[in-house]
Amino acid sequence: MSVVDEVKQRTDIVEVISQYTSLTKAGRTFRGLCPFHSEKHPSFFVYPEQQSWHCFGACGTGGDVFSFIMKKENTDFGEALRILAQRAGVKIPSRSEPEAGKGERERLYQVNEAAAQYFHNRLLNSPDGEKARDYAARRGFSPKTITDFQLGFSPNSWEALRQHLMERGYTEKELLTAGLVIEAELGKTHDRFRNKLMFPILDNRGGTIGFGARVLDDSLPKYINSPVTPLFDKSGSLYGINLATTAIRQQNLAVMVEGYMDVITAHQNGFSNVVASMGTSVTEQQVYILKRLTKNIALALELHHAQRIRGKLKNLQGGWKEETKSGIK
Ligand SMILES: [Zn+2]
Repeated sequence: MSVVDEVKQRTDIVEVISQYTSLTKAGRTFRGLCPFHSEKHPSFFVYPEQQSWHCFGACGTGGDVFSFIMKKENTDFGEALRILAQRAGVKIPSRSEPEAGKGERERLYQVNEAAAQYFHNRLLNSPDGEKARDYAARRGFSPKTITDFQLGFSPNSWEALRQHLMERGYTEKELLTAGLVIEAELGKTHDRFRNKLMFPILDNRGGTIGFGARVLDDSLPKYINSPVTPLFDKSGSLYGINLATTAIRQQNLAVMVEGYMDVITAHQNGFSNVVASMGTSVTEQQVYILKRLTKNIALALELHHAQRIRGKLKNLQGGWKEETKSGIK
């Protein structure tokens, strides 16, 4: 995929333009006051499905997200691409820039993506991935679901992932920063995730920021997650958001569940506007992510959790739709 395509794919035009003018949802489009000419009645439209915009007022112009930034920031295409690429965490190849000069965050996205691919490949193809394949089958996950969520298997090894990634040029320090390995003692590191079903956690632009992991038997703890890293903070992330954004906008409703399995089961059954808080509390940062997509949030949590969260949500935003259900598991 070209850099331009990648940036386009990872960029949400509504989110970008919302930084310049306030947009209101009107059916399948968004509408607001034109940021390029002065007007009292909104004649500026954004079309998320086509990733385009148009002013039906005095300007009469339109285009895609690149032309919007070019016009608004008064730049050429290259500069608009650079601005949007940085925003989306996409690396622009440059002839003069040495490998080592890559930004730290960028490298962390890449090492997480490489780890997710490694786990996914182990789940699909390796002999020792069979117990994870069996587990996924018992849970009723379809091949499409396994691909869409890029589910994986971390082998029962202290160093398989570390070795794989270091052979690909990532440093031990990068693996530590990404939370993929743990420093055990005196500079010795080992893989954090071993013998588990892996759930890559992506941000709303499709960048891999961390992992959830589930044991394949009855041992405890049932789940572990990536630690807090420069890319990942459980309380500021929503599992499934990368696959749910379009549906949340279209249905003007976000449904919050508790965990990975709930999200996957919901999506597989056609409920694509479902995301998980990855815990029993809902944070302000999580609400903030959803607030840019819809004002309507439904909670589908265990009842005792929902009761605790209800008060919190009321404080955050008046007028939010609330629903509680129990027993989506
Ligand atoms: Zn205009």
